[in-house]
Amino acid sequence: MADNDPQGFYEALGVKSCATAEDIKSAYRKLAKETHPDTSQNASSEKFHRISAAYEILSDPLRRAEYDSSAYQASEQEAGTRVIDPICCSRCGQATAQPRYVVFYRVYSFIIMTTRRPVQGIFCAKCAKKEGLKSSIITLFTGWWGVPGGPIYSIGSILRNGFGGKHDRSADEGMIWYNALAFLSRGNLQLSYALAMRSRKASDKNIASDAAELVAQLERAGADPRQGKLRDPWRTSILYGASHMLMAFALPGTLALTIFAETQSSRPSANYIGTGLYSSPPSSTQYRPSTQIAASKPSVLTCASVPNSGQLLGPNQLSATNGHSLEIRNGSSGDAIIKVRAELSKTVIAAFFVRSNQTGQITGIPDGRYTVQYAYGDALDISCQRFLQVAGAGQFPGVETLQTEQTTTQIITHVLSYTLYAVPNGNVRPQNISAQDFER
Ligand SMILES: [Zn+2]
Repeated sequence: MADNDPQGFYEALGVKSCATAEDIKSAYRKLAKETHPDTSQNASSEKFHRISAAYEILSDPLRRAEYDSSAYQASEQEAGTRVIDPICCSRCGQATAQPRYVVFYRVYSFIIMTTRRPVQGIFCAKCAKKEGLKSSIITLFTGWWGVPGGPIYSIGSILRNGFGGKHDRSADEGMIWYNALAFLSRGNLQLSYALAMRSRKASDKNIASDAAELVAQLERAGADPRQGKLRDPWRTSILYGASHMLMAFALPGTLALTIFAETQSSRPSANYIGTGLYSSPPSSTQYRPSTQIAASKPSVLTCASVPNSGQLLGPNQLSATNGHSLEIRNGSSGDAIIKVRAELSKTVIAAFFVRSNQTGQITGIPDGRYTVQYAYGDALDISCQRFLQVAGAGQFPGVETLQTEQTTTQIITHVLSYTLYAVPNGNVRPQNISAQDFER
């Protein structure tokens, strides 16, 4: 069993300790097929369990880091009696004084599928920077094209790579301490001293106290405290961070500009539809410019006189003498059309208009079960009964049951009251519906 494979997990899967996550996965799949009792004649349940246990640890980046760094444990006694090799970078194979176990991410997209693959290992700072840059560049070219995960994963992964990848502080501290002992065993007292100085601040109490003791011993043995500070090779330059930032935001920035330019030249507010970004009406800043654009288009005929709040639109099934009431307070910056829809038949029994920042009410709703839907937009079309372009639509959650009750002295009807909020997260959480569903 190799030094860096204390429980033989890599050996069980037949891979090297610097194997990529991909290598490990395919090795596991191949071996699992060969040894699984259901799929193979020369099955061995013992062997199958062994490779499954190995895969469970090695397929999880953090558990793998823990496993790898657990290989590097030594005591001061060992450092005094045998020569210990310092930790090597898994990329360049050079001994490195301040290694880290780092995970970088690469994102690959295939239209509707996006995968994020970890690339991990014990790195020297130089190789880590190279690997981070490489993973980000690969992501830049292969990660974006999936919907909707591609851009999200790509931005996250590139930024993470740019800030040094994912690494585990306690694993890093364990390796620094191991190296302090390794250099001690090789007689490089000054380097051992500098690493021990760093290990005094380790979060592991045992390491911190052992390191403090070693620092004191080495000072007595003549280590120079003025040279006790190591340059931190992991500090990245501003340029390095900036190049990742540029990669993370260059492409979505270009896309956003293209979409913006498109919408400016086509119908206004078309991009509101179906984006699902607004769970409630947009605020005035997002809203007003499109009104102006619509108004400046002479070819589109719009409603000559805007209805009053509470004014009914089109035919309805309201009763003139009795029934229930519905009141809508429109707290948003856009005008709204409200529809009361019968739950079973889905037919609209009444539609009415509520102006921005006003309250509209209708009465005469017959007994029944209803959903209340709304749409907002900028301008009504020539019929004055629908928006030229629905900017967003939604419905209030739940089905309302309206039932007239009669006591000996009076008839009790219901008054439903809803508020359309200008801001998301109001007390009623509306559900988005499509413009088509609203227009049905
Ligand atoms: Zn290296």
